[in-house]
Amino acid sequence: MKTLVIFNSTEPIPYRRATRGILNILEHLGILYQQIDLAWSRISEEELTTAHLVILGQEGVAKNLSDEEFLTLTRHVSQGLGLLLLDGFLSGYPEVAIRILEIPAFEDTRTTSVFPVRGDWLTETSTAEELTLKKSLSCHSWTSIPSNWSCFLQDEKNRPVGLKRVLGRGRIVLTGLSAGIWQEEYLGHAAGLDGVFWRSLIWASRKPFLARAMPPFVTVRIDDASGSGSPVAREKETVRGLKYINVLNRFGLVPNIGLFVDDIKQEDIETIKAAYHQGGAEFSPHAFRDPKNTNEFPIYMKHTGEEFSLEILQQHFEKLDNLFSSWSIKPSRTVNAHFGELGLASLPFLKQRQQCYLMNVCRVGKAFADPASHQWELKPYHKVNYALDFIPEDKDFFQAMSLPGLDFSAGKPDFDFLFGCTTFWQENFRTDLQKAVRRGVLQIKQGLENLFFGCLMTHEQRIGFLTLQEWETIIKSIMQELKPVPHILKSYDTISAYAESRYRTTLVNAQHNHDLTLWLKGESKVTQLVYLFQEESSGIRQRFLEIPPFSGSVVFKFRL
Ligand SMILES: [Zn+2]
Repeated sequence: MKTLVIFNSTEPIPYRRATRGILNILEHLGILYQQIDLAWSRISEEELTTAHLVILGQEGVAKNLSDEEFLTLTRHVSQGLGLLLLDGFLSGYPEVAIRILEIPAFEDTRTTSVFPVRGDWLTETSTAEELTLKKSLSCHSWTSIPSNWSCFLQDEKNRPVGLKRVLGRGRIVLTGLSAGIWQEEYLGHAAGLDGVFWRSLIWASRKPFLARAMPPFVTVRIDDASGSGSPVAREKETVRGLKYINVLNRFGLVPNIGLFVDDIKQEDIETIKAAYHQGGAEFSPHAFRDPKNTNEFPIYMKHTGEEFSLEILQQHFEKLDNLFSSWSIKPSRTVNAHFGELGLASLPFLKQRQQCYLMNVCRVGKAFADPASHQWELKPYHKVNYALDFIPEDKDFFQAMSLPGLDFSAGKPDFDFLFGCTTFWQENFRTDLQKAVRRGVLQIKQGLENLFFGCLMTHEQRIGFLTLQEWETIIKSIMQELKPVPHILKSYDTISAYAESRYRTTLVNAQHNHDLTLWLKGESKVTQLVYLFQEESSGIRQRFLEIPPFSGSVVFKFRL
């Protein structure tokens, strides 16, 4: 049931770019794949018989395949094998390949934007209307396409640059875009085209097809929470006793709340305690307080990036221990630090308290204002805001983030869905509920499209500029719009723990005869959900296989 990915390591630059542009997302999707390096191996008849999909994703790789190999490949496609031609270098294809795959005549051109074509299964989860590339990208485009092909992507002149077709019992997806599109300098991943990528893969592949991607979890994150002690809230009733949490709970949402602990008043504690014990919210110490928004009273590190002494940290953590135990709750295992400013010296204190998950908007040990804090080598894409990985600074800590935006150059909190929707900081001259709903839905859908998780993120200050009724209208409308989108509501800690277990386990093999047999190894402390895609008369059906917690090497059988 595996996917074969064809590379050629004798061409080191395209090879390195392909491993960065294709293998990283295949790992992230959690599919069973095998690399075939044409430098020392060939495509064999036997491999193709058991494969469900073949991907050509390295620029220029097709020219290393012989006519004979293309003929064999095409024969297997007509028998049901899926084929993804993503190398974007059709000029290098042997003439016989162009002929037997019936690739229409193309023009060599360039484009600075890409448009997903609506109404196609491949673009169904795409949230972007237009993808603007950082620089002009070479591509092949088609002026006319025969009826056996259909178009799912267009270039800046609305010419087809992405085609798909059925060939016998198999399916082919062909893009005219250079494979360079998956490099950060052009577009990269988690930037609007990943939905099309993984849906191409699912659509083309022979079924059943498996993916151990993140399930469509949805959660909420609220930073800068002061409750009744809010120094800025205009609508005191909304923040008093953190009433906005109750609204979220009514729609099944479980927020992670980053608390300004010194602002919390007696009347907030009852809500905190009740929400915690009923599984309605998780709470993390964000900072002591910060009325001027300068991280004046931080817990974990100074705003300058300077570390606290161990004595000071000892005092901070003892104070938090006492505070949380007086509220009869424990902090969430996922640390929600103000500005993401988390000193390296604070890590041992957090470890002692089993708070080893992070949702950091910047690199640990760096000040938010330091440009270096926004560079972090985290899987899968070396992005701070879309990351599921143990951090290089300390492998006991796992970063789980899924936030669109974080445009640090713009110096605005665009990752907050209420940004620009209230009169807070004069971001708008009025409260714009429709804009808030639109941005909230988009934020969640982008996380899901990229196969991380949906995270609705805001700051309490902006909620504090809404009446409770307005807040309820926003949340109700967002949840209404999410109804047609498959999703599972979970807390942040649940998602972090799931992502960690998924990371610690590998799908070693899968076979489909009458039963479906999965071989896994590693350690999973949670029940994992493996995506299973099957072909039915009504179309592609997606469901989940449940893998109970396990340790070591295990085999699971499923009746399909
Ligand atoms: Zn904050």
